[in-house]
Amino acid sequence: MNNNIIEVKNLNTYFNDKQILKNINLTFEEKSITALIGPSGCGKSTFLRTLNSMNNLTKTFKMTGEITIEDEKLDETTDEVELRKKVGMVFQKANPFPKSIYENVAYGLRIHGIKDEDQIHKTVIKCLKDVALYDEVKDDLQKSAYKLSGGQQQRLCIARSIAVSPKIILMDEPCSALDPISTLKIEDLIYELKKDYTIIIVTHNMQQATRVSENTVFFLNGEVIETGPTNEMFLHPKEQETENYITGKFG
Ligand code: ADP
Repeated sequence: MNNNIIEVKNLNTYFNDKQILKNINLTFEEKSITALIGPSGCGKSTFLRTLNSMNNLTKTFKMTGEITIEDEKLDETTDEVELRKKVGMVFQKANPFPKSIYENVAYGLRIHGIKDEDQIHKTVIKCLKDVALYDEVKDDLQKSAYKLSGGQQQRLCIARSIAVSPKIILMDEPCSALDPISTLKIEDLIYELKKDYTIIIVTHNMQQATRVSENTVFFLNGEVIETGPTNEMFLHPKEQETENYITGKFG
């Protein structure tokens, strides 16, 4: 028995007729952190977005191959609302709703039909505590989320994503708009979240990949060039292209 929560087989993706991802085969273990690295435009975000069917929002998108999440194959019968509950996403730029801090976290619970205000309250507080934001905002829960700093907004977005109990959290360069201190806070948080969630994070920052991830996947021109334990890949890359990229020769 393996404990892979995600299996990707022979994945090819296209926008119009331009092929972006080429024959991707990858597995992701439950409650692990994987970094996706590679130069801009090599397909990291496109790959991430196949895992919660976000690319399907783009009319010109097509894919072949198989993606299995918790033993269920994604296909045209997949309920995308349920899928995105299971596979949450955090974006490059924090994107809180134009609502209060409290309602940003409560929102997902409400749209999934939870009406018990006590339960909602407990979950909101727990999630804010889990992302280490509660102490900073406890007196301002009814204030607009836009009043928070960028780093606080990103932690709020992570709180919003965990409120609906996802299994997997996709993070697309979650720290790229943040200062170094906020970045370290988010990295600490990501590490904490690994106890409960499977995390896949796109990053341009090689130090970040080594600080937070256990496994790394190196993409180049839509292909996976190398994948393996992060320490091994950074100390002893198997492929010349990996070495060139992680030592900053291109990208
Ligand atoms: P990365 O995350 O590695 O920077 P992306 O996955 O964003 O790379 O992009 C991979 C390629 O797919 C790029 O050539 C990009 O222009 C193209 N692409 C991404 N999104 C779309 C889209 N919605 N329509 C057309 N082409 C796209």
